[in-house]
Amino acid sequence: MRIEIRDVTKRFGDFTALDNVGLDVRSGELVALLGPSGSGKTTLLRIIAGLEWPDDGRVMFDGTDALSRSVAERHVGFVFQHYALFRHMSVFENIAFGLRVRPRAQRLPEERIREKVHELLELVQLKWLAERYPSQLSGGQRQRIALARALAIEPRVLLLDEPFGALDAKVRKELRRWLRTLHEDIHVTSVFVTHDQEEALEVADRIVVMDKGRIEQVGAPAEVHDAPATAFVHEFIGESVVVPVTVSDRKVHLQGRPTAIDPQGAGNGSARLFVRPYEIEVVSPSSAALTGVVKRVHGLGAARRVEVLLSGPETLVEIDTPRHRPLAVGETIGLNPQRYRIFADAR
Ligand code: ATP
Repeated sequence: MRIEIRDVTKRFGDFTALDNVGLDVRSGELVALLGPSGSGKTTLLRIIAGLEWPDDGRVMFDGTDALSRSVAERHVGFVFQHYALFRHMSVFENIAFGLRVRPRAQRLPEERIREKVHELLELVQLKWLAERYPSQLSGGQRQRIALARALAIEPRVLLLDEPFGALDAKVRKELRRWLRTLHEDIHVTSVFVTHDQEEALEVADRIVVMDKGRIEQVGAPAEVHDAPATAFVHEFIGESVVVPVTVSDRKVHLQGRPTAIDPQGAGNGSARLFVRPYEIEVVSPSSAALTGVVKRVHGLGAARRVEVLLSGPETLVEIDTPRHRPLAVGETIGLNPQRYRIFADAR
């Protein structure tokens, strides 16, 4: 099912939690809402679900108005961070719950319900746990059962709010791979809230980067990582070296000197240069855009992490260099950004 969100604004008193948000979720795709705490991700998810209503704007499911429909009418499945499974019910009964509470006329015969629960247990690969109770499951198993329970009603949309947020890092990693594979099997339109960029980059078809109630960028994982649309996205996704610069006469000035760096359309005034730590070349100071002093060298493997205190704007940056280039603490080096972005400061 396709979801269209148009000009959605949501206020809580004087506070604007969502500011004129527009988004299209394509049928069958898995979209991650990614942003820092308080950026409005959960509020947007709750509006899609029908648990919250916007002050302005429209939400459409397959072209028809969703805002006039209740949660049940929207036919959505939920998985939350702390999805309380019913403690007094077995895993089997938890999954069957949504099927058993349907009005009599729509209810499946008992035999079909049993078959369906078994199919779902197979889908989440936990058939052997059918008779257990929630307290006898690990956190990861509980979330997989919560997902089976959400899928039991054959939702048109699946909404997941930090579903793996309470689990330890290793289980989280396993589960997000598992979710990706599962999604490739079932292809239900899914919206996934997370503040963990690694999770979003690995799981989602597209990522919606949010900040302060607004959408900063929507794109495939590689797109938001390699071609960030704003300074916020550059800093939030992946690592960034950030250096304050000045633009004047269509030139980028660094450490008080004009450089060959392209201002990329930024107007006169203060701006910032953004570079990935592995996209800076170490060169001799005389031929460099930037100079600085090596403060620390560390790291294992193919690349080394080097902390450099830049002269001019005294900024400490961390870069990655290949191991074969010897660097000594205290040495003055030159740095030339290879790929970079210039974003003008807000004025
Ligand atoms: P987190 O990652 O911390 O869950 P989030 O991006 O999901 O954050 P939201 O839960 O959508 O953020 O909240 C957005 C903003 O709206 C926050 O500043 C929050 O305090 C505020 N907010 C959310 N719900 C309410 C409410 N019922 N009443 C007042 N303010 C609210």
